[in-house]
Order: sequence, then C-alpha cells, then structure tokens
Amino acid sequence: MAAEVLAQGGCAVTVVEHMPSVGRKFLLAGRSGLNLTHSEAIDMMLARYGNQAGRLESALRAFDGDALRAWSAGLGEPTYVGTSGRVFPHSLRATPLLRAWLHRLSTLGVVFETRTRWLGWDDDAVVLEHAGQRKMVRPDVTVLSLGGASWPRVGSDGGWVPILRNAGVVVNDLRPANCGVEIEWSADFANLFAGQPLKNVALSISGLSVRGDAMITSSGMEGGPVYSLSAPIRDAVDRGMAVLAVDLQPDLEVDRVADRLRRRRPKDSMSSTLKRTMGLSATTIAWLREVVAAPLPTTPDELAALLKEVPLSVQGVVPIDRAISSAGGVSMDEVDESFMLRRKPGTYVVGEMLDWEAPTGGFLLQATFATAVAAAQAALLA
Ligand SMILES: Cc1cc2nc3c(=O)[nH]c(=O)nc-3n(C[C@H](O)[C@H](O)[C@H](O)COP(=O)(O)OP(=O)(O)OC[C@H]3O[C@@H](n4cnc5c(N)ncnc54)[C@H](O)[C@@H]3O)c2cc1C
Repeated sequence: MAAEVLAQGGCAVTVVEHMPSVGRKFLLAGRSGLNLTHSEAIDMMLARYGNQAGRLESALRAFDGDALRAWSAGLGEPTYVGTSGRVFPHSLRATPLLRAWLHRLSTLGVVFETRTRWLGWDDDAVVLEHAGQRKMVRPDVTVLSLGGASWPRVGSDGGWVPILRNAGVVVNDLRPANCGVEIEWSADFANLFAGQPLKNVALSISGLSVRGDAMITSSGMEGGPVYSLSAPIRDAVDRGMAVLAVDLQPDLEVDRVADRLRRRRPKDSMSSTLKRTMGLSATTIAWLREVVAAPLPTTPDELAALLKEVPLSVQGVVPIDRAISSAGGVSMDEVDESFMLRRKPGTYVVGEMLDWEAPTGGFLLQATFATAVAAAQAALLA
C-alpha cells in the first residue's frame, strides 16, 4: 500500500521481499474469507485498538473502512457487509485482489525484488541480500512493513527484531495475539472431541465477555470468542493463572436454567437431563464432565450455577507461530505521528511491526493499510 501511494506520488519504488513472491500472508488471510475491514463507525472501530487507539487515530480517520472498500472496488473487487458487520470482497478471496493490485503496481513502475532480504543498515546505507550476495542501497525513503512473527512460513519471521534493537530502537517482545489457548485434556477426551464445537457459549475473563462458537482442539480451544479474549487470557497467564468463566446458557438467567432443570424426570440420567431440558449437545456434556472432573451437582440450583459459569483453567496461549497476529513490536514512542523512526529519519515502520493489537474482524488489515498510507503520504511531503 505504501508502494502504491509513493509510486502515485511520482517516486521510483522497489518492493523488497525475502520470499519467492509477495503477499503470502495476505493470501493466507483470504483462505478462510478475506475480512478486509469492519463496517462499524470510526469511533467504535478506534476502540478496538485499545490503548494504541490514540496513536492510530489520525491514520485510521484519514484512511478508514470506506476508503479501504473503495480501494478494493477500484481494483475490481467490490465488497459487502456480512451479518456480523465484517467487510469482505464478493469473491471472499485475496487472490483476485492481489493479482489486480500487483498489476496496478507494475503499471505504476513499481519494481519487485523477491528472494531479497532486508538486513538493516551499514552506516547510512541499507543492506540487502539476494542469493548470498549483499548489496548496499541508499533510498531517499524506506518503509519497513516486515510483519509480526505469526505463521513465519509465509514470510513474517520477526527476523527484524534484533536488527532494530541493535540500532537502539525499543522493540517490545512479539507475543501471540488472536490465538487459541492450551488446556491439558485427558487423552481420551482429546481423541474423541478435537474438532468438535461448543455451540453458542459466552466466555468471560477480566470483565470482558464474548459470545460465539468455540472449537475444541487436541491441545486446547480456539474459535472466535477465544481469539477475541486471547489478549486478556495471555496477560492473565503471564500473571500466573488464567481461569475463564464459560456460560453454557448465555440466553437464560440462572433462575430460568434451574427451573428447566427441575423438569428432570425421575428416571432420566444426568446426560439425558442436560440434553432434554437444556439442549446441550453430547460434545458440550462431555466437555463439561472433562472440565469439572468430579461428579456434577445434582440439585437444580447448584447445577444451574455451574452451567452459567463453568471455571475453565487455561495453561497458556498457543505459540506465536500458530497465532493469527502478533502483539508487541516497535514501540510507538520510537516513531513520530507519521510512523517515521525518530532514530532513523527517512525510515518508516508500518503494519504489524508496530506495537498495537486488535481483535479479528478486519481491524488488522485496516490498521496495516492505514499506517502504510499515512507513512507514504508523509514521506511524499518530506
Ligand atoms: C491465518 C490468518 C488469517 C488472517 N485473516 C485476517 C483477516 O481476515 N482480516 C484481517 O484484517 N487480518 C487477517 N490476518 C492478519 C493479517 O494478515 C496481518 O495483520 C497483515 O498481513 C499484516 O500485514 P503486514 O504488512 O504488517 O505484514 P505481513 O503481511 O506479514 O507482510 C510482511 C512481509 O514482509 C516480508 N519480510 C519479513 N521480513 C523480511 C525481511 N527481512 N526482508 C524482506 N522481506 C521480509 C514477509 O515475507 C512478508 O511478505 C490473518 C492472519 C493470519 C495468519
């Protein structure tokens, strides 16, 4: 995106990419439906960026969700708003968008140097490496958009962290964000239920609550509500212990749950009671038994209280290479309002390299694009 803005501004632009082709994570993001941005109003959107909202505000206001949608439409990929307010291209895929985009960039004269790695600086020169050969270049402007460290096999491996730290730039540790959690299941449970959903549950931690379907994995849980809470879960694990409260009946108050449980027929087993009166699936009942690891309470009031708040101990979040995005990165104190490194005038840092995080929902690509536009526009004016 920075290359496009700079090239449209009349600059000669070279995109340096160490992988054999560009945009591999963008293509990966498109595999499960490319969620480009979110349709919510900018003030609500800003809140998604937590304590970094202030630092991202002017970039996001200048290049907001509507601007991103117009850009996509301009490349022949009009978008639509899904039921959750998330915005997708009609094709849902990243491939046609990336193809059209690369064509536009080539037309603008942008040159791509793939299999070429950015290695940092040697005095005032930028060091690149291709096929084992190093070369020095002296661009007027450098925009670093080297990503975080999730899914390193698509290219963003975080190799830039020590390079920037050696240059005196404060880089906060890259940590997993929007990721699953690790839970020690018994072998039998993991074998039988990995890949099965817990439908319509509400997960809560640290005063935050998110509803949706969670997925059981062989070593924990993942899915929308888990990803959404992964930041407070990660922070609670760091503090020593993370216990999630899982509400298996988010549509009913606890008294209504108890009333229903009182409809238990004398001959009904616990499982058939939970199935018949509460509509719990066999998977959810097995999950409940696994998590509680003790006989379930038999009085309706006690059982209702448990169903409304099952305590789930989480051992950790998954490693960063399996996370959707990274938290941490270049400290916002190290960049000016247009994301230029204070210690390296003429070098800008954009996208996931910067220390901000946001939930899934299109907010990651939105801020990535917006910071790139802001940096490139500032570079044009400099
Ligand atoms: C499975 C998955 C699904 C996702 N789905 C969505 C979604 O639907 N919506 C959304 O908003 N976000 C989504 N994301 C997140 C989104 O893809 C990222 O936030 C976004 O790609 C970050 O863009 P970036 O340019 O900062 O970094 P990246 O897209 O990671 O790009 C960085 C590039 O820099 C290259 N590079 C790294 N180091 C060097 C070096 N030293 N020299 C040369 N090149 C280098 C890498 O190879 C890479 O191509 C998803 C992520 C994953 C993993």
